[in-house]
Amino acid sequence: ASEAASRGARWAAAGGVTDADKDWQLSMLSELDQAMADGSLWVAYQPKLDLASGRITGAEALVRWRHPTRGFVPPDNFIPQIEARGQILELTLHVLRRALDDAAGLAAAGTPINVAVNLSATLLGRAGLTDTILQALADARVAPDRLTLEVTESAAVELKGDIIDALEQLRDAGIRISVDDYGTGQSTMSYLKRFPAQELKIDKSFVQAMLASSSDQILVRSTIDMAHELGLKVVAEGVEDAATLAALSACGCDSIQGYHIGRPMPFDDLAALLRTEDTA
Ligand code: C2E
Ligand code: CA
Ligand code: CA
Ligand code: CA
Repeated sequence: ASEAASRGARWAAAGGVTDADKDWQLSMLSELDQAMADGSLWVAYQPKLDLASGRITGAEALVRWRHPTRGFVPPDNFIPQIEARGQILELTLHVLRRALDDAAGLAAAGTPINVAVNLSATLLGRAGLTDTILQALADARVAPDRLTLEVTESAAVELKGDIIDALEQLRDAGIRISVDDYGTGQSTMSYLKRFPAQELKIDKSFVQAMLASSSDQILVRSTIDMAHELGLKVVAEGVEDAATLAALSACGCDSIQGYHIGRPMPFDDLAALLRTEDTA
């Protein structure tokens, strides 16, 4: 019993991470380059539905990793580690370039949409990031207004002058800026006022609670009203059924994303979906 207890204590002290987990977290990072090169790290797209027009006007790029021996590794299990080791730039640029090439392909096929890429706020302080993003747009021949950057607000990143400057440069270049996971962090109205964004994404935890809880419904409704007052469009994520869609629509939400519309899917499936929508 004491052995088990000490093992339990070690596990707890390590933050619930076993030695095997730690080994994997180390090797994982060295495997990343290979995964980007051989295609086991790929990009899925989840459609965003515009409620006013009833059309898919955008899609979010979400990274996927099919590990040769571990199978599907969810991004929440490797993005934080990559971020902690300062390697998130490489992954972000990989996803960005892929998404921009795919956006160019959709435009050429006559079904242009806006693609959204997740950008960790920690990257915004890096010198040269804005230029790198603008260069990637130019290389792919994609207009800046076809790109949205979804920035997660994080307690670790203060909205210091250089971060605001970087966001303003990106926005002034015509790129859409979206505040991701709104409501989960320290986001306040004063934070939003300083954040040069055009879009706010309500986190799925609120969206999924809104039918069962009137306080969550009030929260969602007042967030939408406030965002509109500030001139932002609102996207709700995690919409899994028609009832939630209807409730969001009644609250004046602009766009929705979630399993009810479509799961994250390979690019070819997205392209096919947009083609059928185009002829509908
Ligand atoms: P996120 O940006 O908040 O993305 C939304 C997450 O909700 C995605 O999880 C998506 O698959 C999931 N989702 C979408 N619709 C539904 C729904 O109807 N129900 C439920 N239960 N879930 C839904 P995913 O793909 O596992 O990604 C998790 C997080 O990993 C993302 O959260 C994002 O923060 C991060 N991430 C993913 N790809 C990238 C990337 O390329 N770069 C960076 N920096 N972060 C990424
Ligand atoms: Ca996102
Ligand atoms: Ca979220
Ligand atoms: Ca997130």
